[in-house]
Amino acid sequence: MTARPAPVPDAAPDDPPDPQARALYAELVLRHSADAVVITDAARRTLWVNETFTALSGYTLADMLDKEPGAVLQGPQTDRATIRQLAEASRHRREVRVEVMNYSATGMPYWVDLRMTPVHDRDGRHTHFVTTLRDITERKALEDQNEAMRQAETMRQAERQLLAQTSEWLYSARSSDELMMVVRRAMHTLIPEADGALYIYADARDHLACAASWGTNPDFAAQIGPEDCWALRRGRAYSYGLRAIEFPCDHARDTGAPFFCLPIIAHGETIGLLHLSFEGFEDTGLLRAMREQVLRNRWEIALICAEQISLAIANVRLRQQLHEQSVRDPLTGLWNRRWFHDAAARAMGRAGAAGAPVSLISVDVDHFKRFNDDHGHDAGDRVLAAVGALLQDHFTPPRAPCRLGGEEFLVLCPDTSTEEAQARAGAFLDALRGLQITNGAETLPQITASAGVASHPAHGATLDAVMKAADSALYTAKAQGRDRVIEAPERTPRRGARSGPPRRGG
Ligand code: GH3
Ligand code: MG
Ligand code: MG
Repeated sequence: MTARPAPVPDAAPDDPPDPQARALYAELVLRHSADAVVITDAARRTLWVNETFTALSGYTLADMLDKEPGAVLQGPQTDRATIRQLAEASRHRREVRVEVMNYSATGMPYWVDLRMTPVHDRDGRHTHFVTTLRDITERKALEDQNEAMRQAETMRQAERQLLAQTSEWLYSARSSDELMMVVRRAMHTLIPEADGALYIYADARDHLACAASWGTNPDFAAQIGPEDCWALRRGRAYSYGLRAIEFPCDHARDTGAPFFCLPIIAHGETIGLLHLSFEGFEDTGLLRAMREQVLRNRWEIALICAEQISLAIANVRLRQQLHEQSVRDPLTGLWNRRWFHDAAARAMGRAGAAGAPVSLISVDVDHFKRFNDDHGHDAGDRVLAAVGALLQDHFTPPRAPCRLGGEEFLVLCPDTSTEEAQARAGAFLDALRGLQITNGAETLPQITASAGVASHPAHGATLDAVMKAADSALYTAKAQGRDRVIEAPERTPRRGARSGPPRRGG
């Protein structure tokens, strides 16, 4: 290795005339500069470095001498494009300024603001490069931190937006089925790393049934017991896989994956459970720190989701309750007039297309006014409730008993011939005759009712017409002595034909 002559700076117009003084000042500047300085020859071989350089990089002049600085200073994380940019500038003898990551002699990365300037002699020949390096590691760290915070904020904003959208969808769900569809979609989008299931308590509250599940492997237990889950037992959200001491729930899939269990609570009562399972997040999987960070973020989102789902379920239940109230008679629990009209119109529409009969049975309690007068209105109400319950026993779906008002009932019988309706009405009147009704300690006297039967299309083309025909048959039953079923006369009776003799129920 041959020692090269130290660079002799050319005099600038303002420099002191004495070359010795100039050399001294230059020496002072380089020695005390806060920036690291490297001087190379035109071929980028290091000739000289200052003390600041050694302090910053850990490399002395002896370490650097004759070497291309980049080859010593750059490392695996140094940006390739920046390295190319530096090589290009030195090839074209251009000044360049870049921010670049270097590595110290002990292998520590640090960032520098690097400025490389080509130097020419009096004849314009390129002789040297002077490179200054300013430590910007702290600023870079701050920038990185800011960037990470900005990214996290952007993500949180996106999550908030998604959550807001989700709650809007959840609130617009009108039925449980619709709600479960939204839950499946929303949970899969909000927490894509997790498979999940939503369990809802059965009426008996002895188990919870899976109402919805989602994810790549949405195969969860169809039902679970309240004792199988730590969240249900302890009455609060439970996470498995984030703490040192923890026990898996019995209902969780036995994969060792972290999972969350979040009670769904409406009006202070636990009505279900949101279960999320992070398969692929087992201890052996992702980097531990990263996996924990992701899980903690998902935990926050899951808590909000559980709350939103709780509110949405309460909302749907309230809607259903209000709808029920609007179509049910409160005394008997039977469908009311409003429901009857909608359902009968629909049934006739369907039956018309299929050519099937729809029958109506009109039922009216006999001498009910007298009953009320003799036993009081409360006893009368007991009778109406008992008649309602008996109707419900006798007429099961698709047949639907309704209370139109007072002591008048109407049974909608889709897909039922007049004969069948008449037979069923007769069986009902028989049962009613044998029914014992009590009011407190008092056993009320036996009651009877009368019934009229009419069908579409035999007795009328429209719902109104069939209702009128059933009513007039009922009137006939009353006129003929009550406690019997009468079929409406045919709409267009054949000449000479007469409706048959009144048939007693049974
Ligand atoms: P019929 O055998 O001809 O049907 O005689 P009825 O007395 O049953 O006939 P009507 O239709 O004139 O009387 C119906 C009575 O039902 C009148 C009313 O006091 C009673 N009623 C109507 N709605 C209710 C109710 O909600 N509760 C009670 N307790 N009574 C009612
Ligand atoms: Mg009556
Ligand atoms: Mg009446």
